[in-house]
Amino acid sequence: MFIGFDPLYFLLLAPAMLLSAWAAWATRSRFAKWSGVANTRGISGAQAARYILDRSGLESVRVVPSRGVLSDHYDPRAREVRLSEPVYYDQSVSSLAVAAHEVGHAIQHRDRYTPLVLRNLAVPLASLGSNLSFLVIFVGFLLSMTQLVWAGVILFSAVVAFQIITLPVELDASRRAKIALSELGLVTSPSEREGVSKVLGAAAMTYVGAALSSALTLLYYLIRLGVFSDARDRR
Ligand SMILES: [Zn+2]
Repeated sequence: MFIGFDPLYFLLLAPAMLLSAWAAWATRSRFAKWSGVANTRGISGAQAARYILDRSGLESVRVVPSRGVLSDHYDPRAREVRLSEPVYYDQSVSSLAVAAHEVGHAIQHRDRYTPLVLRNLAVPLASLGSNLSFLVIFVGFLLSMTQLVWAGVILFSAVVAFQIITLPVELDASRRAKIALSELGLVTSPSEREGVSKVLGAAAMTYVGAALSSALTLLYYLIRLGVFSDARDRR
């Protein structure tokens, strides 16, 4: 039974923590670097988003500015692409990359892209799991109630499933973004294309880091529950 500091936990989680730290740093620094590079077409993120949406039959999806750095997202209920102010207004390579990525989610929504549908179905259970699982597991270990620990671990596995299904959703949005930017002629030079890839690649790694962290945390719980030990080793 474990409560408190456990070196095994840090040993298992170390690679995921390093990856997450690197990805967070790379996302910010690459975004900042390519925010300083003007795109050749001289268009803002808002204009790029509008242009791609209109050519994808999504004239009814709105593009609106939102507050906060890197707060960009697509809201499927409101059918709005919300872009942080630098992305919305600036005529940079970063703006193009992020705006096109968010439009990629709107196109996934239009196409009922299967991983997106699955992810949306998993949201309620995953948010319950992320709020409750740790508490349930902690109390279960404290009271030595194995069934309660298992209930918490099952709740937590919903979080892991959600983060894993998020990966194809995010990678596909970036893939669609790069195709749209090239095909519609919004990105023309090799260096702009490289900038778009760098900005989107770092952002994708943050999702990989998060999914890896929770998958390894699940593995840790299972090891501590003795799932992988021989029956004769158990005490
Ligand atoms: Zn995304």
